[in-house]
Amino acid sequence: MLIRPGEHSSAVRDVQRRLIALEYQIDGAELDGRFGDSTLGAIRSFQERRGLVVDGLVGDETWRELVEASWDLGDRTLYLRAPPLRGDDVRALQERLGALGFDVGRVDGIFGPRAARAVREFQENYGIPSDAIVGRSTLRALAGLPALGGLTSAASVREREELRRFGPTIAGLHVVLDPGHGGEDDGFAGPGGTKEQSVSIAIARRLEAVLTASGVVVYPTREPGASPTDSQRAALANALGADLYLSIHVAGSEDRGRRGALTYFFGHDRFRSEAGARLADCIHTELLAVGGSDAGVHAKQYAILRETRMPAVQIEPAHITNADDERSLADPGFQTLVAEAIAAGLREFARRPVAAGS
Ligand SMILES: [Zn+2]
Repeated sequence: MLIRPGEHSSAVRDVQRRLIALEYQIDGAELDGRFGDSTLGAIRSFQERRGLVVDGLVGDETWRELVEASWDLGDRTLYLRAPPLRGDDVRALQERLGALGFDVGRVDGIFGPRAARAVREFQENYGIPSDAIVGRSTLRALAGLPALGGLTSAASVREREELRRFGPTIAGLHVVLDPGHGGEDDGFAGPGGTKEQSVSIAIARRLEAVLTASGVVVYPTREPGASPTDSQRAALANALGADLYLSIHVAGSEDRGRRGALTYFFGHDRFRSEAGARLADCIHTELLAVGGSDAGVHAKQYAILRETRMPAVQIEPAHITNADDERSLADPGFQTLVAEAIAAGLREFARRPVAAGS
């Protein structure tokens, strides 16, 4: 699915209805299904707030997020099934159980095996039938209890504990290395014609060599010509039970003046992955030492970050849409420096997976 500005259709009308239900403002003149400026503005701020790629287009990921955002806890019965139920109701359930001290894992809005286990434990504790199904009696029980913690749930404490198994070196780690895009999907292109998919694979190849030499077991997510979806890449990493996930992309912007390195980890307005944030910080610090400018470390809900079950980061060493950054990205010498910087960040993470003071 792809709905673009300028389109006039019932699909746009459906998008607008969902945006309005989420309290976004749409101009009266556009409400007959016209994708005008106010619809575009609402989509962009929705994407911004939900940690998606902010492009103003309604593709599969934005559409799915619009649907997920519309669920409130209690709207439907929640239980474990394949593919798993996803939505803000699941997120609310995870927050609630986490605040009560149950191990729900990350607050990612995906009802997986861990959520089902936490529901069952809660039901056993509370003395109601323990079927791991969130129906009326479980909702009633949940509503009746005061929360223990605040937003710092048991999940982040447990995630921090799990981190202590890393280190002190990277030897023996199983790392999924994911060069972004591929096949028909070029990703961003620079003003000089350099394509993101070829830069991401070039850096990944160099990084694979550096890591393998250090004793890391590396699993690439794709061959040069292939283009699995991000959900397929995440599923592969989960099936492998990898320790870490590194996704290599480049940054792009409509503003050609924008430059520098960006690093992303999983998080949203109510939760952040401590492990992902630490890994992102370690790598980003090394990337800046290579000499690029700093476009920051940010929490996002990209499928790669959200659906992977291990600490995951998306690394964008520079902006390909900026002419100077593009020249760097196309330069094999710079690609090697970036690969070495990422490896150095990984070593620092293995040495100190939890930042001093936390
Ligand atoms: Zn990309």
